[in-house]
Amino acid sequence: MALIVCPDCGKQVSEQAASCPSCGHPLRGGATLIEQTAKNWKKVQAVGIVLMLLAPVSMLVIAYTSSADVFLAVVPLLVLGVVVHLLGRFGAWWHHG
Ligand SMILES: [Zn+2]
Repeated sequence: MALIVCPDCGKQVSEQAASCPSCGHPLRGGATLIEQTAKNWKKVQAVGIVLMLLAPVSMLVIAYTSSADVFLAVVPLLVLGVVVHLLGRFGAWWHHG
């Protein structure tokens, strides 16, 4: 019976265990998958933050370079950023429990 290291608390756990008896972290091959999923959701959160940061920057650029309606271009970008970021947070919460 082989032992694996719990990715959450670092203790040695039997690879037969469905979850870590010490901290309850789900194991049996699913551990790596969950870590990977969490990373993917963090990427989604980061994209949301980038979109939110782009909104004020593009607002300044549009305000100085064209007479187009600034809010028409920026508000959707800002809303999209917030939605994507919240989606990432929700996804991470949903998959992590
Ligand atoms: Zn553990």
